[in-house]
Amino acid sequence: MPRTRTRNDAARAAQDAQRWASVVAKDKTADGQFYTAVATTGIYCRPSCAARRPKRENVTFYDTCAEAEAAGYRPCKRCKPNELVPGAQHAAKVAEACRLIMEAEVVPKLDDLARAVGLSPFHFHRLFKSIVGVTPKAYATATRQQRVREKLGRSTSVTEAIYDAGYNSNGRFYATATDILGMTPTNYRGGGANAEIKFALAQCSLGAILVAASGKGVCAIFLGDDPNELVREVQDRFPNASLIGGDREFEKLVAHVVGFVETPHAEWDLPLDVRGTAFQHRVWQALRAIPPGETVSYAELAGRMGEPKAVRAVAGACAANHVAVAIPCHRVVRTDGSLSGYRWGVERKRTLIEREKIK
Ligand SMILES: [Zn+2]
Repeated sequence: MPRTRTRNDAARAAQDAQRWASVVAKDKTADGQFYTAVATTGIYCRPSCAARRPKRENVTFYDTCAEAEAAGYRPCKRCKPNELVPGAQHAAKVAEACRLIMEAEVVPKLDDLARAVGLSPFHFHRLFKSIVGVTPKAYATATRQQRVREKLGRSTSVTEAIYDAGYNSNGRFYATATDILGMTPTNYRGGGANAEIKFALAQCSLGAILVAASGKGVCAIFLGDDPNELVREVQDRFPNASLIGGDREFEKLVAHVVGFVETPHAEWDLPLDVRGTAFQHRVWQALRAIPPGETVSYAELAGRMGEPKAVRAVAGACAANHVAVAIPCHRVVRTDGSLSGYRWGVERKRTLIEREKIK
């Protein structure tokens, strides 16, 4: 027998032994990395399935659901291996990893990051890339480059890797996004009654970011320090909707939104699904007409809308904006030019304005 063959067999046997150990341990971090098919039942499972453990001799491992199904196995009804693991949970882990990368002095090792968030390095790497759009290493590099630029006082904000991966690479992203969003027809009123709203968390240079979308468009972009807080906010905003952790397709959309947030002069190119009064819609339109790099006062904005007396109502509509950055309420300042409040923190407002000043 040729040597390489022997070596491959040995490697395969070692991998199978490791996989079996994960099954015995019901190791959740192994989920998604391989599937366990049981000859006697014709069923395949996630490694962590809570059902009774099969006998080793009846088990075959597959790398993907498709392979297991091609071999004639059906998905287990209990662990639903062909459905995605809840996206929000994963996104929170990735958000945590992004925070670790940003706070670290030296680029953290993949193994250390994976361990910190409780995933295997392989799974973590794949998950990170699917959510952020780039590998942890590329993200770390981009973060560092950004830091260097900040030190030099030049262009501050573009996380180029994210931009390339999530924003710039696909001119037809709008069509894709509409497909992603359009999967579930929704009809939401009164806090999203009967609507399905998908959401996912990610990390951007402004901190944690939560993106939520109905079947019609992006309905919330929240920024903050604490991802859990953002999840609570979205629950408060849509108390009657079924909130669903975004799947992998949805996370592409989130990567796209993060790319947009990181790119000061980018144009918003996704459908929005924002609900408000006719007046609020007019204010939001007027906000979107303010070019990046420019700031206006509430009075000026009211003037531009032909409603010079409605300054207060204009300010109220700005404050009622739920899609940070996409509707750029951060471009409105006090008459004397000083920063007024910002739902997502005055520091973030300052950062956004300063970034946009750089051509
Ligand atoms: Zn199962």
